[in-house]
Amino acid sequence: MLARLYIATGGVLRPRANPQTARERYEAAVAAFFGGGHAFAFWKGRVALYALLKALGVGAGDEVIVPGYTCVMVPGPVVYLGARPVYVDIEPRFYTTSPEAVAAAITSRTRAILVQHTYGYPAPVPAIRAAADPRDIPVIEDCCHTFGGRVDGQRLGTLGRAAFFSSQWNKPFSTGLGGLALTHDPTLARRIRMEQEHYPLPSRGAAFMLAAQLLAYELLVFPATTAYATRLFRWLTRRGLVVGSSGRAEFEPLMPADYLRGAARVQCRLGQFEVARIQQNLAARRRATEFYRAELPRLGYPVPDLPAGWDVPLLRFPIRVANKTEALAQAARYKVEIGSWFECPLHPAETDHQAFGYTHGQCPVAERAAAEVINLPTHRRVTPQDLMRTLEFVERVCRPANPAG
Ligand SMILES: *Cc1c(COP(=O)(O)O)cnc(C)c1O
Repeated sequence: MLARLYIATGGVLRPRANPQTARERYEAAVAAFFGGGHAFAFWKGRVALYALLKALGVGAGDEVIVPGYTCVMVPGPVVYLGARPVYVDIEPRFYTTSPEAVAAAITSRTRAILVQHTYGYPAPVPAIRAAADPRDIPVIEDCCHTFGGRVDGQRLGTLGRAAFFSSQWNKPFSTGLGGLALTHDPTLARRIRMEQEHYPLPSRGAAFMLAAQLLAYELLVFPATTAYATRLFRWLTRRGLVVGSSGRAEFEPLMPADYLRGAARVQCRLGQFEVARIQQNLAARRRATEFYRAELPRLGYPVPDLPAGWDVPLLRFPIRVANKTEALAQAARYKVEIGSWFECPLHPAETDHQAFGYTHGQCPVAERAAAEVINLPTHRRVTPQDLMRTLEFVERVCRPANPAG
């Protein structure tokens, strides 16, 4: 906690200090964690995705396959580049797209395939690549829910042509806002670097506010206070008093001003610190994941069998309830941290789905998941008492969704 406070304070005092060295160190630490390759830091995850798609040559008339159970920040860059997102439904156990559904969506215009390791459950990248590789279509991993998960010893993020990550507040590790692109392909890496080089730094005001928020977060936000902190944060965001993760503009299909931004120094310093202690972070998530897996079946919430070779410390633990609205409304009162994403195929509810090319009913499995799934916390601030209280909340307030529907 002290180190994080120290770094955030540095960001408050010197919001625009030269970030170059900090960025290079951070990127080197990330690349090393993934066994080499090239990493690139940005102001947000969506900006990393934009740079990646641009570097891959995605443009007008192209199609990009996107999971129909994600947040609007994912089809955003596709649309900004003039391409068309083609939504593919998920399968109900792990909330990831199936190879069959992805293969069926490929056309002669498909220019990239996005796969998302939802909640940290690995998407079947090798099987999707079996359809994509012969047509030379790059597969991009959306790793915003995983940093360090592995399948058969291989890290998620190294299974496709490239990957992107988010280090926003609720992500595997947090730098407040932040994003990374990763690739092991040197040609693609050169193109991403060229993109990154002409994105300006965030303004002094934005960098200052982010650092101040990081400071406040470290001091004030714990699982018992999250619901209240979130409400306060949204209220302040609406009044333009903090840098929100997404402005109103991002629920519409036009690139907002100030979108293409590099990483501020405070983000890079904090990121490097978090990557250095990622094993502790992952250990906490593994413990919580194991706890929920052991305890939930007894309360009527089945947990899926995990294939051998999966090491998946979940970002959030998803369960399906019959009374999602009621559960979310009660969470603050019980002082538990319950998540609601995704609330619709292109989270959040304010998204103009039509404008992003999603037609209601297109991904029925995802729509049902959006209506039923709440998610439980696994992060480092969740104490054993929080875990017990969360379980108690599930037992008292939630009702399991009927599996047959
Ligand atoms: C958070 C998130 C993003 C976007 O990350 P930002 O850093 O907020 O831009 C993309 N994909 C998924 C699955 C996410 O959860």
